[in-house]
Amino acid sequence: MSRYITDERIQCLGHNMSTVSSGLGSFWRLASRFMLEESMGTTGPDGLAQFDSDAWYPLTGHLRVLERIRKDFGEVALRQVGASLPRFARAMPADSDVHSAFQHLDVMYHANHAVNGQPMFSEHTGQLQDGIGHYLARPLARHKRILCECTGPYPCAFDEGLLLAFARFHEPSATLAHLEPETCRTWGAARCTYSVAWT
Ligand SMILES: [Zn+2]
Repeated sequence: MSRYITDERIQCLGHNMSTVSSGLGSFWRLASRFMLEESMGTTGPDGLAQFDSDAWYPLTGHLRVLERIRKDFGEVALRQVGASLPRFARAMPADSDVHSAFQHLDVMYHANHAVNGQPMFSEHTGQLQDGIGHYLARPLARHKRILCECTGPYPCAFDEGLLLAFARFHEPSATLAHLEPETCRTWGAARCTYSVAWT
């Protein structure tokens, strides 16, 4: 499931790994074993995987763990992992509304990934480095709706959970629909497009 991410230099912030344990609840004990088998994290005193929040971990390993979670626990579990991400993600602006939050999503995504320890978004230069796809949000004028196109390597169900939780952070009534479900990264498409709406 690593799709086109085969570059071992691309990394994910350890902070994001914590979402797997909080999202999975009782499945975490098993998922922790997947992580350690993929050499992600170290064994803690309780025998479970633990992570340094500020360290970088290989994205390819993280994606392999997510794929095993999908295979063994199903897409619902992946959705839960994605849904726990907004509570942890770094660089989440506190005072934004749902539109500005979605506009900021791609920058946040890149700030949580790195190439050889260099974050893929630099706050100093405002430069964003390509290589992990994008979360492109398009607000629909005069509608309480945003279209979000995802071209990253994360599984579709993970992104569904993430985007819905991200929207509900600002708009508790938000719902999400996968547009053109046959055009999905799960089936090899280059992108998934989601519609996020609220009342
Ligand atoms: Zn999809």
